[in-house]
Amino acid sequence: MRCAIVSDVHGNLDALNAVLEKAEAVDALYCPGDIVGYGAEPNECCNIIRERAAAATLGNHDAAAVGLLDMSWFNPYARAAAQWTASALSDENQEYLTNLPLIQPDPGFIVFHGSLVQSDKFAYIVNPHSAWALAFSAMEDSRLAFFGHTHIAEYYACRDGEKGVDQIRMTDGGTIDLKPNFKYIINCGSVGQPRDGNPKACFGIYDSEAGKVEIVRVKYNIKSAQKKIRAAGLPSILADRLSSGS
Ligand code: ZN
Repeated sequence: MRCAIVSDVHGNLDALNAVLEKAEAVDALYCPGDIVGYGAEPNECCNIIRERAAAATLGNHDAAAVGLLDMSWFNPYARAAAQWTASALSDENQEYLTNLPLIQPDPGFIVFHGSLVQSDKFAYIVNPHSAWALAFSAMEDSRLAFFGHTHIAEYYACRDGEKGVDQIRMTDGGTIDLKPNFKYIINCGSVGQPRDGNPKACFGIYDSEAGKVEIVRVKYNIKSAQKKIRAAGLPSILADRLSSGS
């Protein structure tokens, strides 16, 4: 089975469409969260994920847009975008986001947004220490998980019976060969707002038979996404940052 992992779409329909075109032949789609927030087309992105994803989990921006998370934790730009998104979302999409689970255990792998630790659900996995504390220590028998939240394409590997964790960046894409005696948590990057210095949209393809995950970078029409953000009256920094992927 081949699954596309499409995370942190953030209302960027131009990026999502480019990714879906590239992922055309997959059997299933999974979304580790943040479908909305920052971008100008939250409903269009929500409609696609709602209709096509086998499973999706709740991101902090999804939560903020439907009143499940206190926006005072956000920086002013993120807060402005969350307020705009909240007013733009259709009733149907508000209900969809409100009911997303935090963790989705699928046969074969787990999907989550920020962390597997319930008391710290939107903490950030940014280094081997946080990868252990927020994911590997809570994975029990699961061997593979996909997450999002940091908008950085990278993965962490932990050998069975050990606590040492390797961190490998995948900024330019590439293939991860899953070894049988390791557990993995993989961030397939962000579709709609990459922050790893590469402005191309990013997603993953997990091939369960081959035991491989491919991280794919996709060129998309950044200017079109930027134009829509500015036209919606969202903070212009949210448009500007798409050019640099930062
Ligand atoms: Zn995000």
